[in-house]
Amino acid sequence: MNTAEMRTIVAPGCTLSIVVPMLNEEAGLPALHERLSAAVADISGGFEILYVDDGSTDQTAAVLARLQEQCRNVSTLRFSRNFGKELAITAGLRHARGDAVVVIDADLQHPPEIIPDMVAAWRQGADVVNMRRRSRAGESWLKRTAAHLFYRIINQLSDTPVPENVGDFRLFSRRAVNALNQMPERNRFMKGLFSWIGFRQATIDFDVGVRTTGRSRWPFGQLWALAIEGVTAFSIAPLKVASKVGLVSALLAFATGLYFLVRTLLFGDPVQGFPTLIVVVLMLGGLQLMAIGIVGEYLGRLFLESKQRPLYLVESYVPASEFDAPSQDQAVRGA
Ligand code: UDP
Ligand code: MG
Repeated sequence: MNTAEMRTIVAPGCTLSIVVPMLNEEAGLPALHERLSAAVADISGGFEILYVDDGSTDQTAAVLARLQEQCRNVSTLRFSRNFGKELAITAGLRHARGDAVVVIDADLQHPPEIIPDMVAAWRQGADVVNMRRRSRAGESWLKRTAAHLFYRIINQLSDTPVPENVGDFRLFSRRAVNALNQMPERNRFMKGLFSWIGFRQATIDFDVGVRTTGRSRWPFGQLWALAIEGVTAFSIAPLKVASKVGLVSALLAFATGLYFLVRTLLFGDPVQGFPTLIVVVLMLGGLQLMAIGIVGEYLGRLFLESKQRPLYLVESYVPASEFDAPSQDQAVRGA
């Protein structure tokens, strides 16, 4: 991928772009659009709403096309298949044209009415406006505890602190977006990247709503995968842990070996000692497998990065007609 492709598209801009990653959100889309447009209608300098259809298999694409006919501020980007929310956000940031960009979920769990406050914080000089959930009510105890543990661990391991309870609902200034757009890696743990870029960060608290339609598409397995991504993308501490644990256990095994050798030489040892042997063998085997597994996690990611495939494939990109060249019929398709 060349750098020109990774930069944002230079074209007539607007003040605010709202990037909405969506997968099978046909049911909630009309209500979402209504609330979003109402919330940002008064933003001076204009806005665009960029819906990123992450390979939906329901009627999302059709509903989006209809919306776009009715509303001049709507841009749509459609992936060739489902690439996942992190990549939908990545693509949204790369195609957004606003001086500021807000990323928001499609399920109305993030109240659009708070966007003017985010814009105000940006106008006061913030480059990243983080939206922090006041509570995680409505989520299962297991998910809450797991999330809390995850933040504890990643903040121990990584040099870039990832604020707890801040999701993908954020506002970025143009220079923050440009910084994010320069990151070519495949292992996209967005929460980590968002913190990594630095700049002036501000935080606003908000109350997370309940999902209005559809259901959450984050099964536990995927959350686990995201957690592993997060740790391996931002820290090599596990690799060091593996070598330290390996060293300690090797020393222990050596000492135990010495002890048994001396004991056998002095007192003889007809058949005894078999359990000890098994325990030591199993323990060392387990530790070795763990260490190899950790190395494997990193090696696998290295392998994936080294293939240098594009991060995602765009099936169609139709910018808002606000941005069209004088003749309105020249929508740029398939960018
Ligand atoms: N989403 C997406 N691609 C996916 C999964 C989810 O674009 O592969 C979108 C989804 O449509 C929604 C947002 O990401 O707008 C958050 O998804 P969800 O509500 O399922 O996650 P949760 O709120 O439970 O974290
Ligand atoms: Mg949700």
